[in-house]
Amino acid sequence: LPVLAIVGRPNVGKSALVNRILGRREAVVEDVPGVTRDRVSYKAEWAGRRFTLVDTGGWEPDARGIDAAVAAQAEVAIDLADVVLFVVDANVGATATDEHVVRLLRRAKKPVFLAANKVDDTRQEPNAAALWSLGLGEPYPVSALHGRGVADLLDVIMAKMPEVSAVAKQEVGGPRRVAILGRPNVGKSSLLNKAAGEERVVVNELAGTTRDPVDEQIELAGKVWTFVDTAGIRKRVHLQQGADFYASLRTAAALEKAEVAVVVLDVTEPISTQDLRIIDLVLESGRALVLAFNKWDLLDDERRRYLEREIEQDLHHVTWAPRVNISARTGRHLEKLVPALETALDSWDTRIPTGKFNAFLTELVAAHPHPVRGGKQPRILFGTQAATRPPTFVLFTTGFLDPGYRRFIQRRLREVYGFQGTPIITNMRVRE
Ligand code: GDP
Repeated sequence: LPVLAIVGRPNVGKSALVNRILGRREAVVEDVPGVTRDRVSYKAEWAGRRFTLVDTGGWEPDARGIDAAVAAQAEVAIDLADVVLFVVDANVGATATDEHVVRLLRRAKKPVFLAANKVDDTRQEPNAAALWSLGLGEPYPVSALHGRGVADLLDVIMAKMPEVSAVAKQEVGGPRRVAILGRPNVGKSSLLNKAAGEERVVVNELAGTTRDPVDEQIELAGKVWTFVDTAGIRKRVHLQQGADFYASLRTAAALEKAEVAVVVLDVTEPISTQDLRIIDLVLESGRALVLAFNKWDLLDDERRRYLEREIEQDLHHVTWAPRVNISARTGRHLEKLVPALETALDSWDTRIPTGKFNAFLTELVAAHPHPVRGGKQPRILFGTQAATRPPTFVLFTTGFLDPGYRRFIQRRLREVYGFQGTPIITNMRVRE
């Protein structure tokens, strides 16, 4: 989906505007494993068009950090959004920080809209008009709190929003889009450099591909791949505070553009909550997943035993993800990355015909009926695969299935069909 990013100083009303745009309804996360903390992106819809709303302001710095934090927000928005919405408090007027952000935003070759917030009635409209001075074009007076002006603003934004997402464009056979993710120092940029080697392709020659300068096209094993947000990998965030938040923001926005994620882990260090959080973001995004265990050249026997135990304990929910044990330094097993990516993407694209899926369900239920609950036994009437990317199944039932039974269905799906490298979603429609 196309991405709209909201940027602005603390307290200008970004969250209120996000809630207003979402109609205060948070995206419903259905059957996706992983825990949601500090959400940064939301599925939103306006006038029948769907898009992803990225709230860059989820982390509020203290007074000393404001300039750096807002600049970091702007940077993420410029690199990864299709359209940027810059929010200013009309009653305060343009501050030095606002002007600083405007200078950054002007460098972006992306549409930027200026929302003059807290214009709760017509008497405050001159405050909005004063923001013409920022040089971002027309300030749109809005009241995020009361909803005033928000619909008009969304209408003009939608007119500038690209029709199709970057991912959808790839369906005609362009290069597949890969995000390399991981916490700092696990070896992402080393991996990128080693993989690219001498064969780095300059892109614009490839017909029919639109490309962001933050992405890079690299030929691996005779095929061109688009690595998204390589700018984010090469850049270092120099923030005193909030660096984790901005890393998450970048990760979530990069996932929006990618089809498959390579999560890089450093085998010389214990698997951390930050690693797990990144994997959670991939699961939430519904993208395909490959795990790359890097720095294998530094692994000794003792650490290796620990690592195996950690994988069992911490990564049991993603045993389906292909794993490659690599060294970005020596190049060990780097050639295994491409087959792993291809496997994951094939699974992500897989469609099981309805007839086959129902035969699978019939057999499964015959061998392992759902347990009886309070004298009732929910039955599965029918099932169908509603979507690919990732495979999403809908089960029509006569009652709610136990979570354990749904997990069992997913396990059986994997046993029978593989689905290596892709999350699977199973939704239920209960008939009364
Ligand atoms: P990034 O922050 O994830 O992009 O990590 P870098 O690619 O900058 O790597 C961080 C450090 O780990 C650098 O000093 C690299 O040289 C080192 N490094 C990366 N991959 C490997 C590897 O496979 N083996 C060894 N021994 N060192 C590595």
